[in-house]
Amino acid sequence: MRRYNGRSQILVTGGAGFLGSHLCERLLGEGHEVLCVDNFFTGARRNIEHLLDHPRFDLMRHDVTVPLVVEVDEIYNLACPASPVHYQHNPVQTIKTSVHGAINVLGLAQRVNARVFQASTSEVYGDPDTHPQPESYWGRVNPVGPRSCYDEGKRCAETLFMDYHRQYGVDVRVARIFNTYGPRMHPNDGRVVSNFIVQALRGEDITIYGAGEQTRSFCYVDDLIEGFVRFMAQEGPLPGPINLGNPREFTILQLAEQVINLTNSSSRIVFKPLPQDDPKQRRPDIRLAEQHLGWEPQVQLHEGLMRTIAWFDEMLSAAH
Ligand code: NAD
Ligand code: UDP
Repeated sequence: MRRYNGRSQILVTGGAGFLGSHLCERLLGEGHEVLCVDNFFTGARRNIEHLLDHPRFDLMRHDVTVPLVVEVDEIYNLACPASPVHYQHNPVQTIKTSVHGAINVLGLAQRVNARVFQASTSEVYGDPDTHPQPESYWGRVNPVGPRSCYDEGKRCAETLFMDYHRQYGVDVRVARIFNTYGPRMHPNDGRVVSNFIVQALRGEDITIYGAGEQTRSFCYVDDLIEGFVRFMAQEGPLPGPINLGNPREFTILQLAEQVINLTNSSSRIVFKPLPQDDPKQRRPDIRLAEQHLGWEPQVQLHEGLMRTIAWFDEMLSAAH
């Protein structure tokens, strides 16, 4: 990897999204030059507005399904809608973004000899029958359901990353990200943490899908970004995949109750039908990340929710 004065030129695809904007901020803070590429499908200019005048930050409106020619030392490939509502809006574009996007960033990485990170997902495990999920688990995924455009797209992207690594020696890092939350989540993307917080702050009904007994493990965004950066900095022969997420598991009902308590909300809980193929339980086995990256999440759900609620509160007040 080329580094000039300890400074790398880093491409972040999907850099105007929730995770991407936090990553751009972190990389600029470490003294790097950051090129943010985004087609603004789910990302927003306001997420990176505060970075636009930064002398080491550049923004390019571009769709990763189209090849890109730039000179960079590292690539973080985050471009892809992440919430079920958004990725099911245009499923064909979702799978093209994952698959053609992966081919394009891998081709670029190969040409310029850059290390390349793939934001994969716990969705590659589908509705798992192994719990918690280690990286060695192959998953239980419906190939033809409403979530398949995302799940299978990300699985195919993983295959491409490992094949470019084995066949061409491209220096890859594949991270399987579990549910992550924090400031700058899209208020309308339908994900559970943003939905519950927005509903609670507005005094609207809290919508639990199913009986709320399904589980998820929620990672605060700062912890996750720390995992990304450590994984990319790791010089050993570890292409991944590696799980990054918080191993504390909660039912969706428990999450709803915590959000109501922390916001002091008068909202009622209401129960709605469970979407098709909704995974029943999800918790990462993070032993690989602990061993190889010395990484584990630091922010407890209570603390992370307080920070996220404060951000949504300010955002919703400013919108009025
Ligand atoms: P997000 O929707 O906020 O960000 C995705 C970004 O990619 C947006 O800015 C969007 O405009 C951009 N984008 C989408 N399609 C594009 C295309 N074809 N070309 C260029 N840009 C495009 O979602 P996020 O939560 O920030 O997720 C970022 C990445 O992390 C995604 O790849 C997602 O699959 C992965 N991930 C996120 C989570 C999570 O809990 N947040 C969990 C697992 C995996
Ligand atoms: N969920 C819910 N109410 C909502 C939004 C989501 O009960 O308003 C549930 C959803 O059915 C799923 C869990 O919360 O069981 C997490 O959903 P999310 O869309 O955040 O992520 P994913 O299903 O991809 O993990």
